[in-house]
Amino acid sequence: MRMSDFTGFVLPPRPERPDDSDCCKSDCEMCVFSVYDTKLAEWEKLCRDVKKEEYRKVLDLPSVLSQIKYTPFQLVSILALTSDTKIYRFQISEKDRTDLKNKHSFSLNIEIGQHLIMKNKVGSSDCIVSRAYTPISDLEAHMQGCFEVLIKLYPSGKMSNYIKSWTIGEFVHWRGPFGDFKYSANKYEQVIMCCAGTGIAPMLRLIKSIVEDDTEETFMHLLYSCKKYEEMLMCDEISYFRTFWNFSFCMFVTQENPQNVRYGETVVQGRITSDVLAKKVSEKSLDKTLVLICGTETFNKDMKNFVQESGVLENNIYVF
Ligand SMILES: Cc1cc2nc3c(=O)[nH]c(=O)nc-3n(C[C@H](O)[C@H](O)[C@H](O)COP(=O)(O)OP(=O)(O)OC[C@H]3O[C@@H](n4cnc5c(N)ncnc54)[C@H](O)[C@@H]3O)c2cc1C
Repeated sequence: MRMSDFTGFVLPPRPERPDDSDCCKSDCEMCVFSVYDTKLAEWEKLCRDVKKEEYRKVLDLPSVLSQIKYTPFQLVSILALTSDTKIYRFQISEKDRTDLKNKHSFSLNIEIGQHLIMKNKVGSSDCIVSRAYTPISDLEAHMQGCFEVLIKLYPSGKMSNYIKSWTIGEFVHWRGPFGDFKYSANKYEQVIMCCAGTGIAPMLRLIKSIVEDDTEETFMHLLYSCKKYEEMLMCDEISYFRTFWNFSFCMFVTQENPQNVRYGETVVQGRITSDVLAKKVSEKSLDKTLVLICGTETFNKDMKNFVQESGVLENNIYVF
């Protein structure tokens, strides 16, 4: 899965899978493969604990990013997800990285749901344009001085036109992180996430952190709206999340009748309606329901109205 590409932690050695010939095929109670499965599960839990402990330390590390000035980051890769949406990975310069590593450990300290601001000079004029983007990568990446953003490019968009001209290796200026979203483990019984298009960006890290936390009992519903089925972003990540007991997913396709959907996905034709939301909201207690919204202005307004109609408390609704 892409989101786990980075390995910044020192982890215990992974148990080696036995060879098929190691099994005597006598249905032993302690078969070499059942021992392996148990050890593998123990190892996975240990890795998660190590990471959790490291994460706590990471939050105290000095950051490379600044809220008060722009820092240049180098574009190191571009991954096209659809014809107009791509993932751009940035990294601090090799020189900054070496200088910093010699002095101390560092991180970018971008918390879940926070965004960065990117600036650029537009055309030949001195006019500066800045736009917000929400990193989708997690703290492991941030400890390497890397972050990734998922960006949709608009045909007549000012920043989009600049982004289209990017080539690998160039430097782009970022500042941040900004945003006041805070999540506390097990504070809610359920989190309902309503998003459209690239609005999935702030949800990804939250979902990953909840599903990979053994102590979490919070249930998540991801309601994802796109015009066409092919426009669904981050499919691999969503199918990984779907393997967990506390994650449910439903895609709403608004402008076509979806065909050939991937195995196990719930895909419906139409919009996310007030009825859909009222039904989800009613599954758990109102004061233990958190609703997160991220999409276009109209989408956000509609979703907020719908959840307010369902009785969700104002403090439990967050629009990114
Ligand atoms: C907190 C925050 C976080 C954000 N995170 C992300 C992110 O992670 N990924 C991302 O792709 N964008 C994100 N955005 C939106 C982003 O900041 C820009 O608005 C977007 O990239 C368009 O900028 P532009 O200069 O290319 O287009 P503009 O020049 O601003 O707009 C030109 C035209 O593009 C179209 N357009 C622009 N934005 C939208 C939109 N959201 N929906 C529909 N049509 C639109 C409209 O037709 C508009 O008239 C975020 C915005 C905020 C406020």
